[in-house]
Amino acid sequence: MVNLLPPPEPTPLSAEDRYRLLAENSSDIVYQTAGLNIIWISPSVTTALGWAEADLIGQPAQKLVSAHQDLSWIIRNRVELEQGLDVAQEMLLTAKNGDELWFSGVAHPVHGDGGALEGFVVGMRNIDQKVQTRKRLQESEEKFRAAMVNAAVAVAITDKDDNILEVNEAMLTFLGRSFDDIRGKKMDDFATPEDEESDTKLFDELISGQRDFYRTTTSSTRPDGLIFFGDLSISVVRDEDGEVLWIINQILDITEQTGVRQRLIQLATIDQMTGLLNRSSIVDKLDASIKETVSWGGSVGVLLIDLDRFRSVNDSLGHAAGDELLNEIAVRLQQAVGLRATVGRYGGDEFLLIAPGASNEREMAALIGQVNAVIGREFDIAGRRIVLTASLGASFYSPLSNAQSLIQEAATALTEAKRQGRSRLQVFDNVLANAAAYRLQVEEELRKAIANHEFVVYYQPIIKLATFKQVAQEALVRWEHSTDGLTGPVSFIEIAEDSGLIAGIGRQVLEQVCRDIRDTPTLRGKVSVNLSAVELSDPEWLDNALRIIRDVGIEPSRLVFEITETAVLATTRDVKTDLAILRNLGVGIHVDDFGTGFSSISLLRDLPVTGIKLDRSFVATMLNPHGQEKALARGLSLLAQSLGLPGVAEGIESEEQAIALRDMGWTYGQGYYFGRPAPLNNVAN
Ligand code: C2E
Ligand code: MG
Ligand code: MG
Repeated sequence: MVNLLPPPEPTPLSAEDRYRLLAENSSDIVYQTAGLNIIWISPSVTTALGWAEADLIGQPAQKLVSAHQDLSWIIRNRVELEQGLDVAQEMLLTAKNGDELWFSGVAHPVHGDGGALEGFVVGMRNIDQKVQTRKRLQESEEKFRAAMVNAAVAVAITDKDDNILEVNEAMLTFLGRSFDDIRGKKMDDFATPEDEESDTKLFDELISGQRDFYRTTTSSTRPDGLIFFGDLSISVVRDEDGEVLWIINQILDITEQTGVRQRLIQLATIDQMTGLLNRSSIVDKLDASIKETVSWGGSVGVLLIDLDRFRSVNDSLGHAAGDELLNEIAVRLQQAVGLRATVGRYGGDEFLLIAPGASNEREMAALIGQVNAVIGREFDIAGRRIVLTASLGASFYSPLSNAQSLIQEAATALTEAKRQGRSRLQVFDNVLANAAAYRLQVEEELRKAIANHEFVVYYQPIIKLATFKQVAQEALVRWEHSTDGLTGPVSFIEIAEDSGLIAGIGRQVLEQVCRDIRDTPTLRGKVSVNLSAVELSDPEWLDNALRIIRDVGIEPSRLVFEITETAVLATTRDVKTDLAILRNLGVGIHVDDFGTGFSSISLLRDLPVTGIKLDRSFVATMLNPHGQEKALARGLSLLAQSLGLPGVAEGIESEEQAIALRDMGWTYGQGYYFGRPAPLNNVAN
């Protein structure tokens, strides 16, 4: 039989034994004190710190502790220790070789039988690595903070959701706000990235760990209304696990450089002289207005404003005065339209006004009235008082409109307004649309006609009224149209002038006339050639004409140029010199259609004119017993005589007219009565 003994009761280890066991088997260090003197150390004390038992036993525990260690904690925790409570503490211990290492430990009070505190058992774990890391982090954090506080670069630290944690002075300056203003806000509330979309993408990549850094440009509209621009660098600080701790936003103020860029952008959009939108940006603006209009089903009105006779201000007062005038007009227009419309400078003396919402003349009437009022108000420029008028062309949005077509329509209307005598408004309508289409077609055909030399010159005799003998002739252009047959200039000259095609036609006519003079002996006396204002305005016209005369090789005195008085007034240049050069070469200059324009005596006196041609409208109605034309015709004859200029009366269709005109003092006559314009062959025969 087996006598089973109960298992022996485990004898509880004394606290001392327990700690000894622990101490001998642990890499942590343990020591025991009696009072404050060491009475026992674990072997690991020697391994970890190099102290041998002989060095420490009987010595105060303080020998283990760095001289740098603040021991006030012992005093602070004395009560707890005396009550038998464990007290945890970090301590800097000294190794035998003088190294200092961080330990974290717990002091456990040991009480004697009487319950009095006899000493401590202290267990400590080496945490030097951890403390060093922490300290390094703290140090770098402090350095970073110091650097951040004093940095010229604006810095903000945010969490991963962009909430502002800390900012420096420079950031407050950049944002134009105090710390109280931004507390609890996000960076995004103050600084907006220039490219919102790409910024969001980059930020997501930053948070997800795909990148640690990115750069972008940002701007901040400050409470004072100023916009500041910044070069923004964003970097991330992560913890050991890669989680985002902070985001560091650094902004370099580039407002000044950007200011230059903004200014460049401005240069490209603003007319430098007037400060209004320039041509391309007013067109862009119209484009935007149209898009906006389409979106809500409204309308847009366009008003093209052209100053009447602005050229003469430029010519008579100089360009500086002209510029000053345009500037003043720009200011007045801007003030007049305020926010209801946008004004831009469309060209030299043309302004374009966009009236959002206006769908017809009535709805734009107030604006038009104001435009007329401000332009009509006297100007004080270069010490002179100037009174101006403007011609206006208006067009309104229709479903097929775009910016270009609307402006084109306004321009067509403007041309019509000018044609009808200026200083008036013309609205683009269907009639004009058809006329414009017709003109476009004629223009196209004229272009071909020039290329194909479809123009021929007819000659009409000019006779001396005293003898009824032919002394000269006028060259009149005809268009030998491939399908329409022969066409007179009335149907196409104006279109040719408006499109600039007259230059090509005029050259062909002059060449033909010169060759006819050279090659046709029967073409006797002078030959008059008509010139339009557009030709005269072209600075190259004179050179061309002189070259043709020389190349063909005719005597310049065989030629007379006929220019209307309105043509001289309408030219965009001072043409007096050109005419003087021609006259010096012996070329005659006649004022055509005399009496119909605004001809002043001073014009006749100032220009190097050699003769005048009485407009045929006087002749046609001259014999009407009730009209004033007869008196006028006589008066004009006296005027010509007093200026010493020979006069040609046009449009004579009867002998009666011819005699009456001769009796009034007209020297020459021209008209169907003496001969119709005819091709060269007829003249030569
Ligand atoms: P204009 O210079 O006043 O020419 C006179 C016009 O009166 C011509 O018309 C002529 O045919 C017409 N005429 C002449 N005698 C009579 C008459 O007894 N009764 C009536 N009812 N009419 C008469 P046309 O040839 O149709 O020319 C019209 C205008 O076209 C010309 O007026 C001139 O201003 C312009 N023109 C003609 N040829 C040229 C040219 O080569 N270049 C330029 N720039 N203009 C031209
Ligand atoms: Mg003529
Ligand atoms: Mg005439």
